[in-house]
Amino acid sequence: MYYIDPHIHMVSRTTDDYDTLAKMGCVAVSEPAFWAGYDRGTVDGFRDYFNQLTDFERRRAAGFGIQHFTWLCINAKEAENVSLAREVIALIPEYLDRPGVLGIGEIGLNKNTRNEAIVFLEHLELAFKTNEQILIHTPHLEDKYQGTRMILDMLIGDSRVDRSRVLVDHVEEHTIRPVLEAGFWAGMTLYPVSKCTPARAADMVEVYGPERTLVNSAGDWGVSKPTAVPDFILEMRRRGHAESLIRQVVYDNPVAFFSQSRGWKPVHPCG
Ligand SMILES: [Zn+2]
Repeated sequence: MYYIDPHIHMVSRTTDDYDTLAKMGCVAVSEPAFWAGYDRGTVDGFRDYFNQLTDFERRRAAGFGIQHFTWLCINAKEAENVSLAREVIALIPEYLDRPGVLGIGEIGLNKNTRNEAIVFLEHLELAFKTNEQILIHTPHLEDKYQGTRMILDMLIGDSRVDRSRVLVDHVEEHTIRPVLEAGFWAGMTLYPVSKCTPARAADMVEVYGPERTLVNSAGDWGVSKPTAVPDFILEMRRRGHAESLIRQVVYDNPVAFFSQSRGWKPVHPCG
């Protein structure tokens, strides 16, 4: 089955990973800007990263027949340096019309601090001004419920937010319902050690239905599995779900969400 990984950090992955993804049916990846594992010290560090995301990584993916899309931002983990964050936000518009750029992301909260909220709201202002879609990171583990609530309150409190153009990622059993009920898209991140397993994601699709749900691997520089979406496909098949339902979650839904962005180009062969 052809599929799209809507949230994966390919700059951290090898060419072998691209080769494996292609052989498993991956036709497109979407890569949000992420924390490098260390805080970048200057705005030029972000300039280099945005060039990598919008140029070199795109070509590297194309070498394996995979279309590469990306999202730009400064990650919440670096938001404590508000003045640097503002410099980065001012830099982003230079890159928004490059091919494959889908919007602003992954923005959100990490430890739910005041500075993170300030930087989140300034990213939102940029998204409104430039009419960009938004991809949201919700915090991990003990910070997830409160952080998700704070993010949803900020989004719902602003009438300029078009909820059909916002994807809230890393939802789990205790956060998926308010995300879907408010009209946002919900992404489930399949991680071997935290977040969600393929079986738990399959449970959530069974409970909440496939509408506006996506699954991703978030494959990054930590312990993660870039082939987690095929694991979800196999889990759904094992449970006897129709191919059309599985395809909706792993292919049709990412296409429906991403195609609202001017940076989207239909992917071969199903799009
Ligand atoms: Zn991520």
